[in-house]
Amino acid sequence: MAGQVHVIDHPLVQHKLTLMRMKSTSASAFRSLLAEISMLLTYEVARDLPMRSVPIETPLARTTGRVLDGKKLVLISIMRAGAGILDGMLRLVPSARVGHVGLYRDAHTLAAVEYYFKMPRAMADRDAVVVDPMLATGNSAVAAVDRLKDTRPRSIKFVCLVACPEGLAHFHGRHPNVPVYTAAVDSHLDSHGYIVPGLGDAGDRLFGTK
Ligand code: URA
Repeated sequence: MAGQVHVIDHPLVQHKLTLMRMKSTSASAFRSLLAEISMLLTYEVARDLPMRSVPIETPLARTTGRVLDGKKLVLISIMRAGAGILDGMLRLVPSARVGHVGLYRDAHTLAAVEYYFKMPRAMADRDAVVVDPMLATGNSAVAAVDRLKDTRPRSIKFVCLVACPEGLAHFHGRHPNVPVYTAAVDSHLDSHGYIVPGLGDAGDRLFGTK
């Protein structure tokens, strides 16, 4: 069974993504747009979070409100480009806990190599959202979720900005129960592991390193 893919086709998301794709977009505009899109993606990702009722008092009456239930959400950034998505998500869910997975792509094999892994405590009680702007080969996403599963979080979702069919097939081949939320599924991967048409190297564009 193929895994779930949620393409967030909202006009605001698509408009901002188009601006991000343009090679003329500056690093500072790219960063702001990524944070804005990430907030909109968070809105969709958080749609089914568990809630509980609480008695409250407004200035006019006693009533019942609903608040998020359970331990704080954990947002897991795949370094380094995941930081751009994390930024926007934390604006919407400021009390979320944050985990980091450090992976780099071996330039020759494109395999994911881990150099850092740090999660909050009590993962078994938390819903985890793994973030990385580009689901390209899927190697980093697969490696990050492989490691994350050792901590046994209550649930796992994966959020990116742009995916491609190859990355989705690889990711869901290994993690069919982890839904993917993305703003777009592009045409294909090129021979260097870049998504086409894509937006280039998300980390370089975010941090102005090229
Ligand atoms: N990583 C990127 O930043 N961009 C791609 O197109 C593929 C992987």
